[in-house]
Amino acid sequence: MAAIPLDGAVRIHASSGTRGKPTIVLYTARDVDVFAEVNARAIACAGGGPADVLHVAYGYGLFTGGLGLHYGGERLGATVVPASGGNAGLQVQLLADLGATGLACTPSFALLLAERAAEAGLLDRIRLRFGVFGAEPWSEALRAKVEQAWGGIDACDIYGLSEVIGPGVAAECREGKGALHVFDDHFLPEVVDPENGRPAAEGRLGELVLTTLTKEALPVLRYRSGDITRFVDEPCPCGRTHRRIARFSGRIDDMLVVRGVNVFPSEIEAAVLADPALAGHYAIVVDRREALPELEIRAELAVPGGAAAVAERLGARLEELLRLRVSVAVGEPGSIPRQEVGKAKRVFERTAEEDPFPAG
Ligand SMILES: [Zn+2]
Repeated sequence: MAAIPLDGAVRIHASSGTRGKPTIVLYTARDVDVFAEVNARAIACAGGGPADVLHVAYGYGLFTGGLGLHYGGERLGATVVPASGGNAGLQVQLLADLGATGLACTPSFALLLAERAAEAGLLDRIRLRFGVFGAEPWSEALRAKVEQAWGGIDACDIYGLSEVIGPGVAAECREGKGALHVFDDHFLPEVVDPENGRPAAEGRLGELVLTTLTKEALPVLRYRSGDITRFVDEPCPCGRTHRRIARFSGRIDDMLVVRGVNVFPSEIEAAVLADPALAGHYAIVVDRREALPELEIRAELAVPGGAAAVAERLGARLEELLRLRVSVAVGEPGSIPRQEVGKAKRVFERTAEEDPFPAG
């Protein structure tokens, strides 16, 4: 995949290899320069600047996270603390003693550090203002938790993939949380229908596809990220004009195709969570007993009563969103079976032989 001879490269990283063997990626000096530049922008988007002390608790090494944010922080003129991962006890001591105002790590580690700081009685000595959090999917609920646990910081999302450059492909600004600016002077974004590769309809979810415009050692052309998003084309309150994409709605592997329509479980989840009459529990049933499958959504009330009206409202919302006929069943509180262990299973199939939710 390298577009240059190895002696033209100044650095090698590797993808974390979540789907098998790590992918090796090369950088020229100019690529490292772009890598620093886009990470500096990401930190600035979260509210960082030259006066900040940035504590980088992403792993340093072959993984792109640590060095990406490190060079970005230096490029911005901030004071960078290369803490790397692990050893939360030492990390919270450093956050307090060295006066960190910015934190870069995974969102789950940010939450763990806040808990550890509280246990160690250091929370009121730590002066964090912002965080640049990524390298794993995280929800708005986790954002609220992290921001609150650190006493009201701005927790912003950063996105990237080693095959494209590493972190810094896109970043959320603190003024326009919920969508990420793609640094499209370096990485051209497209959102396509994963089934046929054509552009997704305006404002619709699809797979993010990236083309590098300035990369030298390992340029990629229409690289399919596997990540699901949509363009957000309203102007951003921060004034930046880099095109925005919504926070990610899962992976294409999660996508269902029902009567030729792409259905993303995360879209259904968002509609269920947005209705205050509903508890968060739900199930998606693809009924495959007939040649044309039917989509059924089952949810439950937060408090007893009024199921029919709530079901009608959710059905209308889902049909508008998915552009597909949906049958909705809303039951009493506790009617969706709970799972005790692991990630909750939400998607079920109904066949002639097996019915996960028998009538009643
Ligand atoms: Zn913005």
